[in-house]
Amino acid sequence: MTTAATDRCASSRGLQFNTGNGNTLQPLDIGHNDYLGLVDPDTAFWALIQKDKLGEALSPGPFLQQYREKAAEFAAEMDRFRFAVTPSAVYFNPTERCNLNCSYCYLPETLRQDGRHMPTAEVLSALEILKRYFLSTLPAGFKPQIIFHGAEPTLNWEALLAAFDRYGDAFRFGVQSNGTVLSDDQYDVLMKRGVAIGLSLDCAVDEIVTRTRKTWDGHSIYAKVVHSMEKLRGYPNYSVICTVTGENMHQLVETVDFFHQSGVSTCMLNPVRCTRQGARDIKPADQDISRYYLAALDRTEELYRETNRRLVVANFANILIAIMAPQARRLMCDISPCGGGRSFFAVSANGDVFPCSEFIGVPAFNGGNLFHDRIGAILKTPPFKLVTGRKVEDIDPCRRCAVRHFCGSPCPAEAHQMNGGMDRTGAFCELYEDQVRYAMRLIADDRHSAFLWDDWDRDTTTTFELNAC
Ligand code: SF4
Ligand code: SF4
Repeated sequence: MTTAATDRCASSRGLQFNTGNGNTLQPLDIGHNDYLGLVDPDTAFWALIQKDKLGEALSPGPFLQQYREKAAEFAAEMDRFRFAVTPSAVYFNPTERCNLNCSYCYLPETLRQDGRHMPTAEVLSALEILKRYFLSTLPAGFKPQIIFHGAEPTLNWEALLAAFDRYGDAFRFGVQSNGTVLSDDQYDVLMKRGVAIGLSLDCAVDEIVTRTRKTWDGHSIYAKVVHSMEKLRGYPNYSVICTVTGENMHQLVETVDFFHQSGVSTCMLNPVRCTRQGARDIKPADQDISRYYLAALDRTEELYRETNRRLVVANFANILIAIMAPQARRLMCDISPCGGGRSFFAVSANGDVFPCSEFIGVPAFNGGNLFHDRIGAILKTPPFKLVTGRKVEDIDPCRRCAVRHFCGSPCPAEAHQMNGGMDRTGAFCELYEDQVRYAMRLIADDRHSAFLWDDWDRDTTTTFELNAC
């Protein structure tokens, strides 16, 4: 595939920076007293430069010389990471139903109230199809991931159990749950099998949680979720998602305090995905969510300094890792094209296949059916290509943005449903700008390890290091 990084058609030999076919290095004010960022947006290369040495850094010398020697390699690595990945995970919806009526859900109400459970036999035959597909596409010994996702997957408990029993050796399993359905005994079953468990709680205050996450008749689910969190305390393969909206953003600092007190070691503070109107109704302004989000990140660092125990905000850690080691990132929303249809896909409760769960309520993005169509063919259908072909280079203003390979311009579902097309941005540009600047400040002050898992760089290698400025 031809990409912006390799599509060099001018006659320039690319010997100079910032003109012709030469590499681009954009200075970036990161809000630091002493340092500026210098970023090549095409390769995701960056350096921190002392403010009074910017001119020196951009004059012919060892810094530019060494970068020029490495730039083509960086561009090729980034291209491979962006365009040569095949799926290794599936978000699998074993039911359309949910016992809750959350304001921002990406699934239509009618489905969640009256939709179908996938019968156990169908779940097993779907997993058999997926197992065979992955055996033919992934390296020997690699275990793909199945994440049972919602609606509320644990409502179809019998099918989940059968799946773990029959396919425990074939897949790494995960369950993303609202935390209100399972008993302590059922959590014991999941933990005994090493299943990754994600729960959702949006705030430490019951009344605020109930504004957006509640039963169909409007009742609170807070106590039940907190009970589930207590049950999972100390289980290493567990995380909590907080969806950040205009209703709860003011409480984000208190929320991370509560997660930390509850023994949570990994959480996500996900800005609400604005795929459906219910989510758009409670969308905060970029500058507001950003202020509270960065304050919550500050608080996680304080908590770490006070207790020597981290609460990693995984979606921010992913951006930090995207800067430090682009290919080591674990989540796939902030790379372009995003992971939807590329590193994973989603299966609905009747076997329909979508690039990502965010599209399950949008029939135009149905690429085919797992039981009737070949997965390889589904991945090449026009609905999938719309998502996997959405690149930052084709979107304004992302094509000019220095941080485009740390942000990825998420999310295509929002771009399409909220802003009118795949060549549009998604919902929270300014939040991403601010996160990248915040991350670079942390790196400049060598504070970043407080925000990362201990082993985040286990499989990474340093390919370029120069302390010239
Ligand atoms: S950016 Fe949106 S469509 Fe892409 S993986 Fe993330 S949620 Fe899914
Ligand atoms: S959404 Fe904003 S921050 Fe992200 S790449 Fe586009 S312009 Fe840059």
